[in-house]
Amino acid sequence: MADGCRKSACRRRLCAVVVVASLLAVIGTLQGLLGRFLCIIALLALTGCFSTNPARHAPSIGKRSHHVVIRYVRANDTLYSIGKKFGVDYRLIAKRNHIRYPYRIYVGQRLYINRAAPGRHDATAEKIRRVSIPHRSVRKNSAHHRSSHRRVHKKGVRKLPHLAKARGYKGRLRWPVKGVVTSKFGPRGSRMHDGIDIGAREGTPVHAAASGVVVYADSRLSGYGKLIIIRHAGNLFTAYGHNSRMLVRKGAHVRAGEVISRVGHTGRATGPHLHFEVRRGSTPVNPLAYLPR
Ligand SMILES: [Zn+2]
Repeated sequence: MADGCRKSACRRRLCAVVVVASLLAVIGTLQGLLGRFLCIIALLALTGCFSTNPARHAPSIGKRSHHVVIRYVRANDTLYSIGKKFGVDYRLIAKRNHIRYPYRIYVGQRLYINRAAPGRHDATAEKIRRVSIPHRSVRKNSAHHRSSHRRVHKKGVRKLPHLAKARGYKGRLRWPVKGVVTSKFGPRGSRMHDGIDIGAREGTPVHAAASGVVVYADSRLSGYGKLIIIRHAGNLFTAYGHNSRMLVRKGAHVRAGEVISRVGHTGRATGPHLHFEVRRGSTPVNPLAYLPR
């Protein structure tokens, strides 16, 4: 890559020299045979310069566009700090990732930096969006918001939305199953894996990662097999896919650690494992950012 850059820099310098030479030729000996000859040479060289692969002359940000730049939000990241790091306006990053005002981001969230996040059908997000509207505990939320605003005013510092830090949630959840992570969160081939896969034997108990309410326990979402979705405090959701048996029903209140299902390989699964997702609202985040080590 560095060699290519040096080569293109040389070519640019050569172009500049040729341009100057051709100008001198035009001014000095326009009528002379030598002048005409120099002009033709200069024109040929210029055509060569401008017809070379444009990617070679593109600035570094242009080169980046050939591959997708993805940032997984870390604790204390802000949209502003991420924008500064990559030299991209935070509002553009927000737009590319469909993040609206007040630009909330979450630890473990996947952000597309140099291009728009691909639009795709996300059945789990759709489900969560549907269940979170009628069940949202408005009173509880507004009380929380009021108290946090009061805190902000007391300090006399009103944080700008894009400067609001993504908080760390490490250890907030507990492992739903004992096993090895066989597939991580993020790109998997040409598709995105919105959770982690934890390998475990068929029938291994699956535990609720935190206390909450079961908002979905069904097998109608294609690919996930028997799937359970639990809503927790703070608009956090966990999803457990490919179960062989489901031991809780929609509407059930579960405690952290309670057995909710058994590991299986229902749906699109090559072998028994738990597909585990964590979502902030409908946004998938890296479960490893929420689980203890
Ligand atoms: Zn999976």
